[in-house]
Amino acid sequence: MRGWWREIAGLVLPVICGGCGRPRTELCATCAHALAGAPPRRVRPAPEPAGLPVVHAAAPYADAVRELLLAHKERGTLALAGPLGFALAGAVTAAARPGAGPGDGPLLLVPVPSSRSSVRARGHDPTRRIALAAAARLRRSGRPARVVPVLRQRRYVADQAGLGARGRLANLSGALEVVPGGARLLTAGRVVLVDDLMTTGASLAEAARALGAVRRPFIPGIPHGSPAGSAQRGIEQRVAAVIASSPASFEINRNSSETWIVAGGER
Ligand SMILES: [Zn+2]
Repeated sequence: MRGWWREIAGLVLPVICGGCGRPRTELCATCAHALAGAPPRRVRPAPEPAGLPVVHAAAPYADAVRELLLAHKERGTLALAGPLGFALAGAVTAAARPGAGPGDGPLLLVPVPSSRSSVRARGHDPTRRIALAAAARLRRSGRPARVVPVLRQRRYVADQAGLGARGRLANLSGALEVVPGGARLLTAGRVVLVDDLMTTGASLAEAARALGAVRRPFIPGIPHGSPAGSAQRGIEQRVAAVIASSPASFEINRNSSETWIVAGGER
């Protein structure tokens, strides 16, 4: 019931920029630049949760970018899905660039699922909507891509807002699973986990764990357990893309001589 209301309201309410409130546009040039004007960057939260994929983000989560994400997610400004999808597509491209990890074929965007209660409360699934816009954008630019929503919540998860890094990890641990039959869909290309926002990284780490926990379907001609086989199956890749991440997570050159210890031995 909420969908039709928003479509009609959009026709009669005065249109303002979701980032700064400037009139007569859903997104002004200044806010568009803040969202997607800079090349996407590798981001790392501190502390970094075990099993976190290699994450690329389009923009720091602050000011106009924060307002744009909230306008889309909480206030249902659905026209922003296009620009947000554009920004996410850039981060996906950075995450899946040649040499950034194993795998080939079409890009398979796997959204981190929202809880059913929040989808109900908001009247839409913002991450999935943005992922669909990102995949469409990638296809228009000549890169085969589709959304493969194979993750779901397997138990109740409390609202993450107000929880610290430790609390979020505990809240989410074991919370996600791959839907029946989903594993096979993940073999068709290069998997990129996608979300609108990374805060502590707990959601993406749990999503990566759930993808890794899935039983690998047998594919003729690819030896089980071989690195090449894993890459071709597209299951064991650990790359993710988000629109926004905390400004601090962008400061990855904290100490160039530092040895990063990441579970799974990646990088
Ligand atoms: Zn603006």
